Amino acid sequence: MGVQAVWFKRDLRTLDHAPLFNAAQQGPVLCFYVLEPALWQQPDSARQHYHFVLESLRDLYKALRAHGVRLHILVGDVTRVLQDLHTKTGFTALHSHQETGNDWTYGRDKAVAQWCQTCSVQWHETPQFGVVRGLRDRNQWQRAWQSHMAKPLVPALDTLAVTSVSLTQSQAPLPTADDLGLPAPEPSVRQRGGQTAGRAVLVDFLGHRSKRYRGGISSPLRAPEACSRLSTYITWGCVSLREVVQSTHAAMARSDIDATHRKGLKAFTSRLAWHCHFIQKLESEPAIEWRNMHRGYDDLREHEFDPRLFEALKEARTGWPLVDACVRMLNETGWLNFRMRAMLVSVAAYPLWLHWRPVGLWLAQQFLDYEPGIHWSQLQMQSGTTGINTTRVYNPIKQAQDQDPDGIFVRQWLPAMRRVPDTWLFEPWLMPPSVQAACGVVVGQDIPYPVVDLEVATRTAKDRLYARRKDPAVRAGKAAVIEKHASRRQTSWLD
Ligand SMILES: Cc1cc2nc3c(=O)[nH]c(=O)nc-3n(C[C@H](O)[C@H](O)[C@H](O)COP(=O)(O)OP(=O)(O)OC[C@H]3O[C@@H](n4cnc5c(N)ncnc54)[C@H](O)[C@@H]3O)c2cc1C
Repeated sequence: MGVQAVWFKRDLRTLDHAPLFNAAQQGPVLCFYVLEPALWQQPDSARQHYHFVLESLRDLYKALRAHGVRLHILVGDVTRVLQDLHTKTGFTALHSHQETGNDWTYGRDKAVAQWCQTCSVQWHETPQFGVVRGLRDRNQWQRAWQSHMAKPLVPALDTLAVTSVSLTQSQAPLPTADDLGLPAPEPSVRQRGGQTAGRAVLVDFLGHRSKRYRGGISSPLRAPEACSRLSTYITWGCVSLREVVQSTHAAMARSDIDATHRKGLKAFTSRLAWHCHFIQKLESEPAIEWRNMHRGYDDLREHEFDPRLFEALKEARTGWPLVDACVRMLNETGWLNFRMRAMLVSVAAYPLWLHWRPVGLWLAQQFLDYEPGIHWSQLQMQSGTTGINTTRVYNPIKQAQDQDPDGIFVRQWLPAMRRVPDTWLFEPWLMPPSVQAACGVVVGQDIPYPVVDLEVATRTAKDRLYARRKDPAVRAGKAAVIEKHASRRQTSWLD
């Protein structure tokens, strides 16, 4: 067998890595990652993503070296890199994981397929998640997911005698984030990249923190500890989702855990299925990255975008303390729990009446775990443009009362709120001038007024959405969306 090329993409690990193992069984391996400047110039790319990837590559480099395998990190357009590698090594097969990425990576993969065909190179693409390429029948999806997750983990490389191809050329300096035009700053306390870090998070979660999963994941205060915090490592492939699923089942089977802990782990495994359920939507319909899942909602918000409201949201100046505190936390950490993400998008989509696409691009850059399939499906779902989900409009005042009743979270992220008395915690703009003078906080100066009247703006937004929903043509279009995208479970929470 000739040289086997292994292309690392968003699968930056050595464990449970089928393309690497399969290639190593067939011949000498040529391992490489392509740092594509054009990819990093896409509007959903961010400096924090790039640095996380570089950290992960360093870790991967060391892990492969321990098996005597060299990782080549090459810069440029993938098809040009492939052509160059092919000229130098004459590799006969290309191995990689399937990727459900954004429109740009989809186009790039089509170009790679074309190149492989022209050069008579076989491209073996292996599914990395429980996402089915070319899915014809949504009814079969769940079974396919379970079957993928039940397969034994791919054996580690040390079970094989691996031969590695090393190109003699020395490693050219990699472009910096500045070279790629990725704007600063980035979160100062974000998670660090790499398989080693990802596995440590998994062990810590299953061994300790998962006890708090049940009951802890909705509060922005408790969620950073109670949630698994695995999303970023799953997104960039530092840990294998199948390994997470199987390790969780093993943890659930332990006799020394109590019922609450077990229920928490069960809820966690459902979310691991949601991961692929949502990515499947983008895999089946790539256009949902930029157009409404249900076309009956076209032209609802497109022509009314108010940039001043968008700026206020991005700059944590909406006036609703919980919303502004979430934006600050996101800026500093690159992460938010599900409920706060849903609330941010709901506020953007309803009272602020902003279209999901620019909001989604902004959030894609803010989330270190940005995963296009989950992200765009969730953006549309929380904005009411899927046409198949119950409309959930989160009231940021009520969310603050429920999730942060003592104001600990908002005071952590909004220093001016530390001086606001408890009575005015949820609606500080209502403080009478005498209270403002007594606590030394001037509304409109230290704390913004709400950018819109929440009640009026939310009612108007709901009326407009419901009017559209009642339209006979829109109702008629719903069945096709359900057929293609909806969960087949009895309960609708997966949608
Ligand atoms: C508007 C919006 C955008 C989102 N964008 C992303 C994104 O780009 N990348 C991303 O990984 N998640 C996204 N989510 C889903 C969810 O918020 C995150 O997966 C979760 O907060 C990550 O933290 P965790 O790993 O500690 O979660 P845990 O609660 O510990 O969940 C474990 C894993 O399950 C999966 N998961 C959890 N919740 C969901 C969900 N609602 N939908 C799909 N998968 C889920 C993730 O892979 C996660 O790592 C988004 C949610 C919303 C509302």
